[in-house]
Amino acid sequence: MIIVVFALLLIKKSDTISILTGTLNKLKTSFNDLDEQAKLIVKTDLELNRAQEELDKRIGGLESLQKISRLISTTLDEDEIFHRLDIALKSDLGFEKNLILIYDKEKRIRVRSEDGFSQDELRFIVSNLEKDSSLIAALGEGHTFSSVTSPAQRKELIVGLFNVEHFVISPVLTQNGIIGMMFVGNRSNALSITEGDEELISILANQIGQSLENARLFEQVFTSSQQLETKIQDRTKQLATALEEVQKISKTKTEFISAVSHELRTPLTSIKGYAAILMTGKLGAIPDEVKARLEKINTHSDNLVKLINDLLDISRIESGRAEMNYGKCNLLAMIENINDLLTPQMKEKNITWKTELAANIPEMFLDSSQIERVFINLVGNAVKFTPIDGTIQIKAELDAEKVTITVSDTGIGIKEEDILKLFDEFYRVENEINLNVKGTGLGLPLAKKIVEAHNGQLWVTSIVTEGTNFHFTLPTKKEDVIKKESLET
Ligand code: ADP
Repeated sequence: MIIVVFALLLIKKSDTISILTGTLNKLKTSFNDLDEQAKLIVKTDLELNRAQEELDKRIGGLESLQKISRLISTTLDEDEIFHRLDIALKSDLGFEKNLILIYDKEKRIRVRSEDGFSQDELRFIVSNLEKDSSLIAALGEGHTFSSVTSPAQRKELIVGLFNVEHFVISPVLTQNGIIGMMFVGNRSNALSITEGDEELISILANQIGQSLENARLFEQVFTSSQQLETKIQDRTKQLATALEEVQKISKTKTEFISAVSHELRTPLTSIKGYAAILMTGKLGAIPDEVKARLEKINTHSDNLVKLINDLLDISRIESGRAEMNYGKCNLLAMIENINDLLTPQMKEKNITWKTELAANIPEMFLDSSQIERVFINLVGNAVKFTPIDGTIQIKAELDAEKVTITVSDTGIGIKEEDILKLFDEFYRVENEINLNVKGTGLGLPLAKKIVEAHNGQLWVTSIVTEGTNFHFTLPTKKEDVIKKESLET
């Protein structure tokens, strides 16, 4: 019995032991799992820390990039850009060595900003880069190289050239290609460089390229605008001298015309006088044939006197010696008068006379006989150069300061090239009508001078074969009419 009990107890104990062993094994496995998980957590934590560090570095780098970009993009002066870079690269980027090399105008490599290099090192770098252009050629294709991503051979070359362990080198590019390069590097192994640094320097070098390009374009525009300004000043001086010359010549011409006209007038008056005496028959009977000739002498003399008087008036107005008899004048009545005066000639050609006159034109202040000459000349010409059954219209418009008169006709019109010379003295357009009708080419220059003496303007618009419009303005205020100094004399 005891043995049986003992055996039963033993069996139970061994069951318990095997249960315990199983539990122990399970615990072991769990413990191992936990250990693995703990290791994983530590590893993940380390990786997270590293990622955080990398992220912090990138954020720091981006902030520096933003700051430097702002600094260099807010000036258009190339020297100032490098001055700002000098300060910013040292304080903001955190590399042991910084270098910016830029080509000068003679295509030589120049150190424009540096930190951490000795003069010997710089000389070595520049002379080697000038000797061996393979690195520059590769950079010129837009590649950025770093100790992280460069092929071994290139890495070795750059490390040797710049005397560093870790580096990034990036081209400074403009639209015209490579103009230089930017280099950063660290000597100590503890300060390694990441792909983030490579990206950062590449962006910064790009930004430097853009800022330099803007500065150079600005410089170019500035220089050419200065050159242009100098040219304009020179040309203005030349024009002023030429104008002075023209004014001198014009004055001499006016004086000459005035002198000659005076000289011509005296003998002409005698010729007219003698012809008149002869015509009276007081010196003996005059045969009809001689009488006819004497009448011709009289008519031609009259024409000549008119021509000389016009010439004298032009030169007097031009030189400011004209005496204008200013007074009150009713313009509408004057236009009515002109119509009466020229009605016979218009009737001959069955020309229709039309007017479109502003009702409220005030009493004007002007030299009536001179302005009447202007009207007679313009309307007379309109009649002369308008074929039968045509129309002549006088329009008078009023605004705050002036009356604008337009004399329009439906005549032969005037070509653009003739319009340019129309107000030159003695200019007459070569046409059928002018071949048959006499004229002096003085009417329009005189009319223009008279209007200008009243401080108005006279101009012409025309369409060949459709008709011509002569326009002129007259100030409505007395003080505007006599404003010109020359008229006060
Ligand atoms: P003239 O009438 O004595 O020739 P003007 O100085 O008055 O001199 O005119 C100069 C020229 O301008 C005229 O010969 C004529 O060819 C041209 N001209 C003037 N008025 C008109 C017009 N209304 N239509 C066409 N041509 C004109």
